[in-house]
Amino acid sequence: MNIAIVGAGITGISTALELARDGHQVTVYEQMNATAEEASFAPGGWLSPCVAPSLSAPGVGMPLKQLQKGSGLLQASTFLGSNTWRWMRQWKKHEKQAFKQGAHPLFSALQAMSSYSQDLRWQDCEDPESIAEQRPGALILLRNPQELEFWQQRLPLLQEQGIACQLLSPQQALGIEPSLGQDIAWLSALHFPQGESINPRLWTHLLRMQAQHLGAHFHTGVPIQRISTQPLGVQTAQQLHLHDAIVLCTGAHQQLSSQALGLQLPLMTNWGYSVTAPVRDALQAPRGSVMDWAQQATITRMGQRVRITAGLELDSTANAPHHTATLQRMYRLLNDWFPGGAHLSSPQVQVWRGVRGHLPDGLPAVGASGRPGVWLNLAHGSHGASLAAGCARALADMLAGRPTAIDMQAFSPLRF
Ligand SMILES: Cc1cc2nc3c(=O)[nH]c(=O)nc-3n(C[C@H](O)[C@H](O)[C@H](O)COP(=O)(O)OP(=O)(O)OC[C@H]3O[C@@H](n4cnc5c(N)ncnc54)[C@H](O)[C@@H]3O)c2cc1C
Repeated sequence: MNIAIVGAGITGISTALELARDGHQVTVYEQMNATAEEASFAPGGWLSPCVAPSLSAPGVGMPLKQLQKGSGLLQASTFLGSNTWRWMRQWKKHEKQAFKQGAHPLFSALQAMSSYSQDLRWQDCEDPESIAEQRPGALILLRNPQELEFWQQRLPLLQEQGIACQLLSPQQALGIEPSLGQDIAWLSALHFPQGESINPRLWTHLLRMQAQHLGAHFHTGVPIQRISTQPLGVQTAQQLHLHDAIVLCTGAHQQLSSQALGLQLPLMTNWGYSVTAPVRDALQAPRGSVMDWAQQATITRMGQRVRITAGLELDSTANAPHHTATLQRMYRLLNDWFPGGAHLSSPQVQVWRGVRGHLPDGLPAVGASGRPGVWLNLAHGSHGASLAAGCARALADMLAGRPTAIDMQAFSPLRF
């Protein structure tokens, strides 16, 4: 088939690769001038969506109620629109079920897709560390007894889902991350030996090269203005390009799906930050990835750089000014946890603000749109990098009319 993909982030490129592997003729259209310029540009690269920061999926991160209590972790515009309130009510409903029910079906679906993605991720890639700055393992650092209690209640659920996890004393954790700050007060750590981290942008570029090698074509700097359902095609400023199928991988953008398909997904945009700095002293820098649970921040080693991510901004806009207090908190945290590890005053420090598109049950929309020939693979929220490989393979199987390796019902774009 002759297939169009709209969007060249990590999801669109992964989808292009899987469809090219199946022998389809694939063309990717991207409005920016390069691959991975929006949400996939500088995210955390933390690849364990079932042990993730807040607003990842209901019942996975810190409860929304806790975040709203003025901890300074969640920012929102003073006026929250009615859509935001509706979305938050839906999220809280799922959260309540998740905490009550133990093995909530959404959690199982997320974990199934996560481990499927992990199985697929490194096919055709012999050296993930040098190619995508992959690092194995992940630690969650707990500062006080309340955090420990929260996680002790969750451990049976994680074990039930096959997620390996061990509670460590600070001394044991230092065996894994020897440079963790000695001056900061913390109680214990959770170690996830199967967790891993990557540089999502580097990895997206690698996948693009693989897709190109299989014949996929890329048109960057080409915004798609409209989807035509009859005849089936994508409309650029110049012309209508006809295709046998179209896959929308537009991340947090849903104009095309709502305009062409009348599909109004309850998508909430949530902005966050990353600060990436060169390693100053390799002995003081992190080896893998850690999360400060109280501060909802991840710190990840990416080759010769260190990246910290944090920040949750609801009801904001692309050109809103940076939230200085959040950025200052991030610099402080990086220095507290890994003193002297990163060169924070270097001119090469990169500060980035990116957007996540969340659906209220925390799962992406992957599958048929309800209009013949139009498919969706979008709204991956906080785990686009983690789920890209599995969602792309599942989409390619559904498009070919083959059974999928995992049950995709929970991901259906028509579930709302
Ligand atoms: C601060 C932060 C930290 C994060 N940390 C992690 C993490 O640790 N682990 C993890 O798994 N995930 C993380 N994420 C989430 C992850 O970055 C996203 O889920 C992922 O990058 C989404 O990829 P995508 O390809 O779906 O979307 P994008 O990368 O946004 O790509 C969508 C593309 O579609 C294009 N597009 C949209 N409309 C059109 C149009 N009309 N015509 C042409 N092109 C169009 C856009 O230009 C864009 O390039 C984080 C996100 C943020 C903001």
